[in-house]
Amino acid sequence: MEDTVFAKIIRREIPADILYEDEDTLVFLDIAPVSKGHTLVIPKKPVRNIFDADEETLAAIMRTVKKMAPILREAVGAEGINIHSNHEAAAGQVVFHLHFHLIPRLKDDGLVMWPHQKYEPGEAANLAQKIRAAL
Ligand code: AMP
Repeated sequence: MEDTVFAKIIRREIPADILYEDEDTLVFLDIAPVSKGHTLVIPKKPVRNIFDADEETLAAIMRTVKKMAPILREAVGAEGINIHSNHEAAAGQVVFHLHFHLIPRLKDDGLVMWPHQKYEPGEAANLAQKIRAAL
């Protein structure tokens, strides 16, 4: 596992606006926020992303996400929140230390999510079959 900027934040080698920490997780403001209050929840354990994460680490992260979401909503006056996570470069992961983005949202904040696509007839059923077969 490569040394990352988040590992440096965990070791307090570089500064961050830390909001919360417990034994397993650390929470701090994203340095380039999508919206004001954009927060990152990371495990202290060096985990690259979902593909190498163990269930205990994911459970610890989700506990902290659950703790922070209403606090963030209240503190920044958001109406909603996006919980988002990128895994591998093709999906937009830039920092290769597992993290979840908590992005405070307002109804009319103008942020645009991904465009939707359409399946060809039968394509969804075939794909569903392929995915089920891989389980
Ligand atoms: P991702 O594209 O999911 O890997 O997101 C990485 C996130 O880390 C981006 O939103 C960056 O703005 C954020 N980031 C990078 N360096 C720092 C830092 N030193 N402190 C806080 N957030 C950072």
